[in-house]
Amino acid sequence: MYDGAIAPEWFGCTTTPHKNKPIGASKHMHQLTYNAKAYSAASPTSGLASTKIQRREPTDRDVQIEILFCGICHSDLHSVRNEWSEFMATNYPIVPGHEIIGRVTKVGSAVTKYKPGDLAAVGCMVDSDGTCPQCKAGLEQFCPNMILTFNSPDKHLGGVTYGGYSEGIVVDEHFVLRIPSNLNLAAAAPLLCAGITTYSPMHHWGVTKGKKVGVVGLGGLGHMAVKFAHALGAHVVVFTTSPNKKEDAVRLGADEVVVSRNADEMKKHAGSFDFILDAVSANHDINAYINLLGVNGNLTLVGAPAEPLAVPAFSLIGRRRNFSGSMIGGIAETQEMLDFCGKNNVTADVEVIPIQKVNEAYERLLKSDVKYRFSIDMASLKSE
Ligand code: NAP
Ligand code: ZN
Repeated sequence: MYDGAIAPEWFGCTTTPHKNKPIGASKHMHQLTYNAKAYSAASPTSGLASTKIQRREPTDRDVQIEILFCGICHSDLHSVRNEWSEFMATNYPIVPGHEIIGRVTKVGSAVTKYKPGDLAAVGCMVDSDGTCPQCKAGLEQFCPNMILTFNSPDKHLGGVTYGGYSEGIVVDEHFVLRIPSNLNLAAAAPLLCAGITTYSPMHHWGVTKGKKVGVVGLGGLGHMAVKFAHALGAHVVVFTTSPNKKEDAVRLGADEVVVSRNADEMKKHAGSFDFILDAVSANHDINAYINLLGVNGNLTLVGAPAEPLAVPAFSLIGRRRNFSGSMIGGIAETQEMLDFCGKNNVTADVEVIPIQKVNEAYERLLKSDVKYRFSIDMASLKSE
């Protein structure tokens, strides 16, 4: 039972025994919690608004983090609006956010890698079983028991996990990452999802110097893909529906820019790519890009539109083309990506906003009107 011991000073929150019956582990029945400020959505149409949530007091293996910045991923928007209801229905209220950077405020007794005052980051995952073949291979993202940072079952408190649109988060040490000290924190936050999601498939499929690489959709993920492909030495071609992004694409590292609504420009690249990364958030003609692959070429989908995409058999079989998918990356690979970014000074191009502008930011995201990632300055939550 809660013994009334010292309330945490952290943000002046009070410690209260958690009343909900936790899912699964009965040993956590009396998990201590504290209140934290956050932004949540109550329904697909409500928008996000200020609220208070419960966080657990750190267990032995936990790191407690005061969140400084959190990026806005299009997956936050898909989830808030329940657009993936068929595959991953949203539980309300939802607190999104999985591009988290902050400062460690407290650690559990068994934590060895972090201490209070350290900078730390959290991405899309906060737990996995640690024992399955995928976990053993460092592919926690494919663990059947992987727990996402938001909208996954919370084994500690019951209910679902709450993400980074919050003043703080408590996460198992294994899922906490280290940020190179030279990186701007607001601009580094998007590396935790947009960064790893584009870095991982490029490594897996061998993007290197001399390869012709396409990036479809110059949004949060797409602009990171351009930076990585350029840094890896590839010849980079950006496909965009927004002619006003042409100059930026070149500045970000593109060697060529194609406005995809122009059929003649598209035709010039037919059958010529080694690798194409598709990072489009809405339904679109994927076949137009498969036809740009050469023999053995690979198109990897990271964008996650809710609607199925039409893939004609003959587009694939004629040139032994591959059509594949990829989801974020494992923890070790995420750390490798962050270290690569530290060494090569790679961060996202961000527009920093206060949390109070989050609903407006979502509307702009839907219009492809962001250059190229919103990063929420979480200090703005203090005034709520
Ligand atoms: P974003 O910033 O909104 O970028 C999406 C881009 O797609 C837009 O900037 C736009 O680029 C293009 N686009 C939008 N609507 C389009 C349409 N109707 N037709 C053609 N192009 C269109 O989104 P994001 O945060 O980068 O995320 C992109 C997608 O990846 C989302 O579906 C997200 O859920 C998914 N995602 C997947 C993973 C994973 O692990 N696989 C991880 C994170 C996110 P242009 O203006 O250049 O055309
Ligand atoms: Zn994301």
